[in-house]
Amino acid sequence: PLVSSMEIEEKPDVTYENIGGLEDQIRETIETVELPLKNPEIFEKVGITPPKGVLFYGSPGTGKTLLAKAVANETNATFIKIVASEFVKKYIGEGSRLVRGVFELAKEKAPAIIFIDEIDAIAGKRLQSSTSGDREVQRTLMQLLAEMDGFESRGDIGIIAATNRPDILDPALLRPGRFDRIIEVPVPDEEGKYEILKIHTKNMSLTADVDLQDIARKAKNASGADLKAICTEAGMFAIRDGNTEVSQENFNQAIEKVLNKHNKQQAEET
Ligand code: ATP
Repeated sequence: PLVSSMEIEEKPDVTYENIGGLEDQIRETIETVELPLKNPEIFEKVGITPPKGVLFYGSPGTGKTLLAKAVANETNATFIKIVASEFVKKYIGEGSRLVRGVFELAKEKAPAIIFIDEIDAIAGKRLQSSTSGDREVQRTLMQLLAEMDGFESRGDIGIIAATNRPDILDPALLRPGRFDRIIEVPVPDEEGKYEILKIHTKNMSLTADVDLQDIARKAKNASGADLKAICTEAGMFAIRDGNTEVSQENFNQAIEKVLNKHNKQQAEET
């Protein structure tokens, strides 16, 4: 059960080139996660402790996981991902054991990047009620904090957490020596959307009339994940028409399909 709740990749194949529109976030990630892994002696010379944990926050599908994977690629590190919301649900009574297991595995496989997605599931502000489930979540968080505090940042393990609800996080998590670096990963602006579209159409056969700037303009509120879905759907429309090249019209249909679905889901959630 321990291993099935983790995703482990020896050296992910994602690089910074696969990430569109997040130049500032890439630079900050290089400084706070990559540099301590690659050149820990620089921090020693300067006489400061490198950040232990970095928190990425932003809407779903904006590239948080991609960024974490790209660091692992760049540093030849093992990428270890856990989704906090999943293991709280599935492994009642196992949360703290799992946290311990993740850190043990990271030490074994170092250099390693530990990526904890949806951390708010175990690190929401202390709940008022105290059902046994809440106490279990509490124990899981305490174990995570204990692991981070006890852990000598020797520069061979980077810890990244992600959330789209930074407002509900327990402040204990954000204290110095824990996740004390916070990087916002926003929904892309028009230029960012264009960069992301270039990445996801790189291997596609497009007709001459395809205008990525125009698609970026039309795909309002689209995340990186939405833009990827738009490219795939456009390809499916082309195939349905019996074509091997994807046209602007196919993209227009795809925008309609992907963003309508998206907006409907959002409306249902609220
Ligand atoms: P979640 O909060 O849902 O876990 P996330 O922010 O971690 O989302 P990713 O898993 O990184 O999102 O993105 C999902 C997919 O969307 C990626 O595999 C990629 O194909 C595409 N994508 C998202 N953001 C970008 C981006 N900035 N550049 C290129 N592709 C992107």
